[in-house]
Amino acid sequence: RAVAIDDALVLFPSPAIGHFISMVELGKLILNFQPSLSIHILVISAPYDAGSSTSYIADVAATIPSIYFHHLPTITLPSTTGTHPETLIFEVLRLSNPHVHQALLSISRTHKINAFIMDFFCFASLSFASQLNIPGYFFYTSGAGSLATSMYFPTLHQNTTKSFKDLNTFIHMPGVPPIFSSDFSSAVSDRNNKAYEYFLDMAFCFPKSAGIIVNTFELLEARALKAISDGLCIPNSTTPPVYSIGPLIVTKNASDGATDQSLTWLDSQPSQSVIFLCFGSLGLFSMEQLREIAIGLERSGQRFLWVVRNPPSDNQSLAISAHPDPNLNALLPDGFLDRTKERGLVVKSWAPQVAVLNHNSVGGFVTHCGWNSVLEAVSAGVPMVAWPLYAEQKFNRLMLVEEIKIALPMKEDENGFVTALEVEKRVNQLMQSESGNSVRERTIAMKNAAKAAVSEGGSSRFAMSRLVESWKR
Ligand code: UDP
Repeated sequence: RAVAIDDALVLFPSPAIGHFISMVELGKLILNFQPSLSIHILVISAPYDAGSSTSYIADVAATIPSIYFHHLPTITLPSTTGTHPETLIFEVLRLSNPHVHQALLSISRTHKINAFIMDFFCFASLSFASQLNIPGYFFYTSGAGSLATSMYFPTLHQNTTKSFKDLNTFIHMPGVPPIFSSDFSSAVSDRNNKAYEYFLDMAFCFPKSAGIIVNTFELLEARALKAISDGLCIPNSTTPPVYSIGPLIVTKNASDGATDQSLTWLDSQPSQSVIFLCFGSLGLFSMEQLREIAIGLERSGQRFLWVVRNPPSDNQSLAISAHPDPNLNALLPDGFLDRTKERGLVVKSWAPQVAVLNHNSVGGFVTHCGWNSVLEAVSAGVPMVAWPLYAEQKFNRLMLVEEIKIALPMKEDENGFVTALEVEKRVNQLMQSESGNSVRERTIAMKNAAKAAVSEGGSSRFAMSRLVESWKR
């Protein structure tokens, strides 16, 4: 029986929206890199209440005929899973693993799979690559500094018997600035947490992969990349090849309309005068914290564009689409919207961030330090105030402030609360001070370096050609 055999790459993203989009963008990058390369991209999509990825998937499926989505069946999480977001995702992926195996087997009947590229959260599927005799790669959607710490995690685990939350000291790791023990992601702060175990298991898988693709570029994180390639981060085993192919950012938001209210408002503002505040797909604040931000912004006198969401509810879903739009008058201080209407705009729930950052009126960005947001700011040349909220974001703040020097730190108290005074001070510092200017200059230098990295002869282009070569062998 004759079956048409096409070349294919299988991508397996984590279903969390930031990770998912990043992986599909990697697929697009590979397709664009060698248009002569006739290849199908099959994206395995795990079941998850991912909300806003639905329109993104529809958009990609409609516009790029060689990218296909393979949706895995729904699974039921055991009631004992808990609510830690990372644990939830790891569990969804663990329970979906038999379906991933089936999907790979069925794809391999009609395609020659050149490579299987999975998000680092999907590490449990790595063994299928060797079973099918295809190279298995990881795509690390955060930076090289974060990758260095993930690789070094088993060594840290061996060196102490205490949880990070009880250490109360600086931790030294190759290639990155010393990090205070409480600044590790809450997912790994406690050894007894299930997520800690998952991250540890994942770290043990790095050496077994055919390579690690990382969304960064040489000049942005040179020291971390060198420590990794020198083998310092995996001292007891071999370090696989690392491919820094970034910055890979979304080229188009499905919802980016030319008539978007944020962009229309920005059109009427002076050049580089507006500070943009936006906190990723999951960043939520209490009402008390929202009011504190409002007071700080009002006192700063700066122009601002602020994306506001409802505070977390008891019945919280991870999907942003599940959150109703906020009632701004009820949430923000009395009269705030009216008093600031000449110089500020508050938008509900979501703004087209990439387009906003690239608007000429935007001169600063208060960010939760999600890695996609960081790369989007770098690519647009917009300096940041770093206000981390979840996942590896406190570590990202450290990298942005101390290593790369493209952000000023927002400082919180021990409960994570940021005062109005701190907001006022940092916003003014970024927009109008010596230290703000120096961060701005560094960011613009990084914007140019990013552009060079992805241009002909640049380091990220070179990494892409090494990557494509590696699976042809
Ligand atoms: N984003 C957006 N508008 C918003 C909030 C987020 O367009 O109002 C996009 C942002 O541009 C980025 C992604 O959502 O591409 C968030 O990814 P990131 O890694 O920064 O954070 P995460 O949501 O994964 O924590």
